[in-house]
Amino acid sequence: MTQRLLVIEDEPTLARLLSYNLTQEGYEVTIEDHGTSGFERAVHEPFDLIILDLMLPGMNGFEILGKLRGNAITTPVIILTAKNAEEEVVQGLKLGADDYITKPFGVSELLARVGTVLRRVSGAKEEVIPETSDSAIRLGQLEIYPEKYEVMLGSTSISLRPKEFEVLLYLARKPGVVLTRDDLMNAVWGFDYIGGQRTVDVHVSSLRKKLELDPDSVHIDSIRGVGYKLVINKKRSAHHQET
Ligand code: CA
Repeated sequence: MTQRLLVIEDEPTLARLLSYNLTQEGYEVTIEDHGTSGFERAVHEPFDLIILDLMLPGMNGFEILGKLRGNAITTPVIILTAKNAEEEVVQGLKLGADDYITKPFGVSELLARVGTVLRRVSGAKEEVIPETSDSAIRLGQLEIYPEKYEVMLGSTSISLRPKEFEVLLYLARKPGVVLTRDDLMNAVWGFDYIGGQRTVDVHVSSLRKKLELDPDSVHIDSIRGVGYKLVINKKRSAHHQET
């Protein structure tokens, strides 16, 4: 089935570049060059993915994103951000963007990001939640047993401290999704915790040491200035022991 993409971008050259390359890749592409009409389309037509510029006439990208999510429209969104604009990325992800691409970008990066977001979403739909009836979470080589506080990576049992376990569990419930330090703080330590976000970094860092037996299989990505995401490489099934 052909996947439908909506590109909301007012810069004609960039819109054409996006349209050309995405069409070549086999996607059906709709271009909107105005914020308001782009928003209307995103609301009324079914798309598999939206590529959203931030500076637009009419409504800007942040308004569009906020309104879509506010209306419970969960179509994945990749925002196009300016170079060195970390604030834009942070704000976009907080508003519910699924990923971002920094301008200027190469075609291969664009196609890779689009492909990743679409796979993640369709994977999530098919599998619903990667949780089974015994409440274990299985992601590639990684198995997490919430009730027992146990983690297996392949056939190896990983020993984690309780907070490390909770951080991992929280990341693993949303694999491939960027979670902010605030999200992690609130979920694991609670809103009233007075320790700084450094606490999150320390726990992620020790989790990494314990988990990255095979970085090609499971790893935790840092998104600078934002937070973390758990990345599972399902293609890779070989599991190497650390030597
Ligand atoms: Ca623009």
